[in-house]
This record gives sequence, structure tokens and C-alpha cells, in this order.
Amino acid sequence: MSNSFTTGELKTATMKTGVILLRPGSYMKNKQIPLLIGVLLIMGIIGCGTTKYNLELDGNGFKSDKTSYAEGEKVKVTYDMIATDTDYNFYADSDDVKLEQEYDGKHGYVFTFVMPAHDVKLSVKSRNSMEIDPNANKPADKRSGAGFWVCPECGTSNEGKYCCECGIEKPTW
Ligand SMILES: [Zn+2]
Repeated sequence: MSNSFTTGELKTATMKTGVILLRPGSYMKNKQIPLLIGVLLIMGIIGCGTTKYNLELDGNGFKSDKTSYAEGEKVKVTYDMIATDTDYNFYADSDDVKLEQEYDGKHGYVFTFVMPAHDVKLSVKSRNSMEIDPNANKPADKRSGAGFWVCPECGTSNEGKYCCECGIEKPTW
């Protein structure tokens, strides 16, 4: 095999490897060069011209690698402002965003969804479950164990022979 290319051999090598060898001389006059450059330009326009849509994150604690995504791109947002006794409600501002919610001990909540063809805003509502939960401050009247009995009349837990709330005698069951 020869070490020096003729124009014909160079053309073959270029086509095989896909590499454009820019070399002054007769090869530059080859009609394939402008064609290849044209194809690359078109690919470049398609690659860079994709419309991006904004991801807006409402509230502290949301984290995302990017603030804009192309349609169909997978969006990942994490939320790590987790407090105990607090319920979180996460939602997107649009019905066509299907939020997938996971919880991981390292990042907190992890949300993924596919970017639609419009801007998306993620929001969080948090509330203290201790304030809202109607059962949170109820006395532990479901205690069980030695000596305790639950009054069938009023539901109070009692230790003695009579209900301390309504006074009926401990049933014998
Ligand atoms: Zn009672």
C-alpha cells in the first residue's frame, strides 16, 4: 500500500472515515466539500435552534440543573427542605405535566416529568400536620394493656372500677 494519496484515494479515505480533510490544492475544488459543509450547517441549525421552555420553581427548596428544557426532554427537580410534622403538596401549573414523585434519603423529594411545549411552574404547599390533624391532640384513649379498659359508653380509658367520665361500672365482658 502506497503512502502517498492520489486525489481518488483521498476521496475514498474521506468517505470511509467521515472525516473532512481540509487541504489546500485540488481537493478543495471537489464539489463534495460545499455539499458536506451545507449538510453540517443544516444539522447545526437543527441542533441549536430547538425551542426551550422555562422551568419556574416557586418556593425555596427546589433544585434543578437547568432552567429551560426542550419539549420532550426529561426534567428532574429535587426538593430537600424537608421538615418533620409538615405535609407537602407539590403541583405543576398545568394538567399535561405528569409529576412523578419519589423520595430518596439523599436528595429528599425527586420529581421527574417530560417537558411539554410550554413553560412549566412547579409549586409547593406545605402545612404543619400537627395543626391540621384533628387526631393529633386527642388523648390517647385507645391505650391498652394491664389494668386499662375502654368505657363502652363514652370511650374513655379507665384504670379503676368505674368510668371516670360517665361513672358506669367496668363491664365484665
Ligand atoms: Zn364512660
